[in-house]
Amino acid sequence: MNAPSLLELGRAGQALTDELVIDAHTHCGRFNIYYLPQSDAPGLVEHMDRLGIDRAVTFALEAVGSDFVIGNNVTLDLVRRRPDRFIGFATMHARYPEEMIPELERCAAAGLKGIKLIPAYQKYPETGENYFPVYEWADAQGWIVLNHSWGAPDFVREIARRYPRMCLLMGHISEVYAQVLRQCDNVYTTTTNCLRRQALARAVQAMGAEKILFGSDFPDLDGAFNLAPILYAQISDDDKRRILGLNMARLLREHAGVEV
Ligand SMILES: [Zn+2]
Repeated sequence: MNAPSLLELGRAGQALTDELVIDAHTHCGRFNIYYLPQSDAPGLVEHMDRLGIDRAVTFALEAVGSDFVIGNNVTLDLVRRRPDRFIGFATMHARYPEEMIPELERCAAAGLKGIKLIPAYQKYPETGENYFPVYEWADAQGWIVLNHSWGAPDFVREIARRYPRMCLLMGHISEVYAQVLRQCDNVYTTTTNCLRRQALARAVQAMGAEKILFGSDFPDLDGAFNLAPILYAQISDDDKRRILGLNMARLLREHAGVEV
């Protein structure tokens, strides 16, 4: 008998235990806006096991709106508890530019592997210059920088070309960025919120499956809610596997020195 397809596994509600699945966009810790269950290490791992997610890139919600040093410590604690499951990214606060580079140095020395930015929640423009030293630092290290929103496509193109060793991840998928993704080798997108009918199949056509990475936004959003559109998409199982984990495994190897 043939092995079940990824669609059949999804329909049966089975965990993807035999597949490499890396969630490129998750959160940990506590949020100042609303309550999130399962945001500590046991809760996150339970959720990942239920769906068959091997590894998750994660960043602390405390760092979004309040103290980013406290938030980064939450991420570090999580990574130390379960280094087999989590890859931690450091978060910066746009309003404290003088603290960014020392905090990045501290986080890198302690074991975080990339950067998550979220200027929209810090009432700071995506194009603001406070982040430029962070890009410069990430470029020198060849690090991944995931941004909730990078702003207009022209700005993304400009930054990607000015900092060619930095790997830019769009935190949320949008076809608006299709051309930039095709033009710039160092720009990728997570699938987060790819919920409209056939949106992922269209995105694969417009951007290429090799530029798309599974991202759930768990526990801010439900993991299955963001996994199903990949399993149900009218694309090949090979493309689904690229999106589910193979693409991110390569980026983590090349930009973070992490073997998954
Ligand atoms: Zn998020």
